[in-house]
Amino acid sequence: MTLSFDPDSLTLPIGHFVGDRLLSAQGVIPLYRPSDGKAYADCPVADADIVDRAVETARSALKTSNWGGVRPRERLNVLCRWADLIEKEAATLACLEALSSTRPVGHLVHGDIAVSAEQIRFFAEFADKEGSDLVPTDDGDLGMILTEPYGVVGAITPWNFPISMAAWKLGPALAAGNAVVLKPSEMTPFSAIYLAELALRAGLPAGLINVVLGDGVVTGNAITGHPGIAKVSFTGSTRAGSAIMENIARTGVKPMTLELGGKSPQLVFADADLDKAAAAITGSILGNAGQACVAGSRLIVEESVVAPLIKAITGRMKTAAPLPTWNAAAHYSPIISDKQRQRIHSIVSATVAAGGECLTGGTPMDGTGYFYAPTLMTAVDERSPAITEEIFGPVLTVQTFRTDEEALSLADHPTYGLAAGLFTRNLSRAIRLTRRLQAGTVWVNRYGRSRDHILPTGGYKQSGIGKDLGREAFRANRKSKSVLISL
Ligand code: NAD
Repeated sequence: MTLSFDPDSLTLPIGHFVGDRLLSAQGVIPLYRPSDGKAYADCPVADADIVDRAVETARSALKTSNWGGVRPRERLNVLCRWADLIEKEAATLACLEALSSTRPVGHLVHGDIAVSAEQIRFFAEFADKEGSDLVPTDDGDLGMILTEPYGVVGAITPWNFPISMAAWKLGPALAAGNAVVLKPSEMTPFSAIYLAELALRAGLPAGLINVVLGDGVVTGNAITGHPGIAKVSFTGSTRAGSAIMENIARTGVKPMTLELGGKSPQLVFADADLDKAAAAITGSILGNAGQACVAGSRLIVEESVVAPLIKAITGRMKTAAPLPTWNAAAHYSPIISDKQRQRIHSIVSATVAAGGECLTGGTPMDGTGYFYAPTLMTAVDERSPAITEEIFGPVLTVQTFRTDEEALSLADHPTYGLAAGLFTRNLSRAIRLTRRLQAGTVWVNRYGRSRDHILPTGGYKQSGIGKDLGREAFRANRKSKSVLISL
């Protein structure tokens, strides 16, 4: 069976999913297919009234279903049935996603969607295994830390991996006994609605997942500032994360998890397996055309091996072929929008103007769609925008070092600390440097997440607050109460 499909043949769920139904709504924000630039739909924008209705629906669903108070294994069972259905309906889900996003349909079915189902099961497992604690006190007292769900969690997600990001928010929040009001990115709105429909079919009580479509200014602010939202879980840019903190501070106080931007370094030492390093580095910057928060966008390499490493990476970069996301043979992604592609090109051009040089790429790709050529830039000034700004495109910069200290100093970004890669055969150097790298994740002799969902992800510095994935993500969806009983 081929996964290729005709992008003009799909019917889209345009509206807001509240309770057990899709409330149809007039589209406002024009949407263009990244793969060929064709206008295909308009995204509605939920106003404060719709958000209010979604929050009230979630609150009343929590009450009537007693979701936070049922036997935890019941939550686990429903979520596992939902994961099964997601796998069963992967092809349909993948079409909705591939149409509007930058994700190739084959990668969606075998990667994003399969892994998301697995992650939902992973979080479901915590429902009846992770809980309250008895703590040591003197024997005249009994001390406990009770944990409880927050209530309604407001989740806001970006466009780069829409299904995965929705699963990272919905999985732990629901497993921990909460309801969710989710706002996907206005650029990739439809797959989240289908995910909610599947959850209902799996037996999740109606109203526990509500999906409102819209932008950050109207819908996003209405969610983060709503008094009925007990906790905010956000993934997106540092700029939007900062605006969310401001809105929450202005409208009250509530806990938040923020997964934000990155500008991650990859350090390569002369003793590394260079072929392995070249494959990992190229994969990390070309995966989703660099539109990944953890994209390893800064190559920092020991001077003596820069030439062979550059040769190996450029050779791999030149094989990227621009095929539409609805073609099953597609691997290389388009950029999400024409505006974002122009931004990438302006950063590359400004860096060239400041003395940089493109060893390969540095231009938009010919043809329809918003593809940008895989780009490797060297001889750049340290203050050039390609080195300092999160580009969110297939652009890798190269800097060289001679000593460990120099490598660490180049790796340290003033704003971001999301992830870092380290390639060396010297075990003690790997451990020494890992300890000193200012990043929430360090990958050694590899780059990118595995399917070990127990490893949390999150940033140092302005790359975020709190963690997604891992035990931490489940715990972050429950509040704790200290109890002391005098015996
Ligand atoms: P974005 O910040 O523009 O938008 C993300 C989401 O936030 C969208 O749904 C948007 O509508 C909403 N939003 C924007 N402003 C808002 C506001 N003031 N209040 C409430 N909601 C608001 O980001 P994007 O362009 O969609 O995604 C790319 C960014 O996401 C990159 O910076 C990337 O690094 C980051 N990201 C981080 C992680 C991580 O785990 N750290 C994962 C994926 C993406």
